[in-house]
Amino acid sequence: MAYAALPRAANRGPDVELDRDEAAVGEVRAALAAWYDCGHRPLPWREGRDPYRVLVSEVMLVQTTVAAVAPYYARFLALFPTAEALAAADEVDVLRAWEGLGYYRRARQLHAAARQIVERHGGAIPADPALIRALPGVGRYIAGAVASFAFDLPEPILEANTQRALARLLAWDRDVSAPASQRRLWEAAARLVPLDQPGRFNQALTELGATVCTPRDPTCLICPVARLCGARLQGRENLLPVKTIKPKTLEVVEACAVVQDPDGRRLMVRRGPGRLWEGFWEFPTVHLGGADPAGRSSVGEDVGLAEGVRRLADVDAEIGPAGHILRFGVTRHRVTLSAHRGRADGCVPRPGPGLVEARWVDESEASTLPRGAATRRVAAWASGPGR
Ligand code: SF4
Repeated sequence: MAYAALPRAANRGPDVELDRDEAAVGEVRAALAAWYDCGHRPLPWREGRDPYRVLVSEVMLVQTTVAAVAPYYARFLALFPTAEALAAADEVDVLRAWEGLGYYRRARQLHAAARQIVERHGGAIPADPALIRALPGVGRYIAGAVASFAFDLPEPILEANTQRALARLLAWDRDVSAPASQRRLWEAAARLVPLDQPGRFNQALTELGATVCTPRDPTCLICPVARLCGARLQGRENLLPVKTIKPKTLEVVEACAVVQDPDGRRLMVRRGPGRLWEGFWEFPTVHLGGADPAGRSSVGEDVGLAEGVRRLADVDAEIGPAGHILRFGVTRHRVTLSAHRGRADGCVPRPGPGLVEARWVDESEASTLPRGAATRRVAAWASGPGR
């Protein structure tokens, strides 16, 4: 049945209801399967169907690109090849393996999920979507991905790529993040996923969104489902999906001190629970102005970094001028971090508010501690000329 002839029922929303027509659904499934079988990206997590590997890849891919994840995925699995290995690992080692990937809460949740898989399921992820979804950090999308990719269960998925492709296929013209839109798109994903090879179908839909039905200028001319696509038929493929405008970027101004004792060790502090970068080590860092996503100790320019170091580590330090400026993004924040060198005697540090440890660390030990990308960049600068 040609899509253009599909009825558009009143009271059912603004979409074209492609997924409510059996013939159209069959055409979409067949076209996507044939297209996917003709070739797709050889992603490392598509080799095999080990549910644990699928889980690791999907957790890593949340808010992170395929290109960024690929090297981390290989390294992580070399260190923790099974749920048992991950469950038995120390959290410090898990965080270190995640270093640089960001959104570290995911690493902790994956670690907790591995422990639950071992304790409750004998080390094997169960082939039951409800039990998969009960694992820490596993939402509806990841549960659907593991169930369909690893176990070939007919569970729907909806993430950025599939959401965009489905919104266009349905010509859905409401804000895709609205609850009603999410309900409608999940419903469509559930109606479209077939009983036969559902994993392949979900992979194909994701692949379509990632490579053809791209955010800008989708290549409809080579799209296998163009004939059925509501947005294409209405000439609105570049207008959909509708998204609310992202909140603007917030500026953050911070300063950190690389304080050395007479033995050349550096003062480092470890962040406490419930905070951004929980469990990570960094140089004493204060908030100077703008937004404060990390919930840092705030000192004004007039108080200065030396007082910040005293509050954070109970160390009296002589602090030099800013020697290095870093700029980086954290969620919707743009951080400007000035790094200073400093000196202090070898007194015993004590952790201040929001911290759980403070101590002198030599360079070889520092490289074994979990540290965020900014801290590693500051450490590299501090080890360079002028140290
Ligand atoms: Fe996306 Fe164009 Fe294909 Fe529609 S026809 S699904 S807009 S690539």
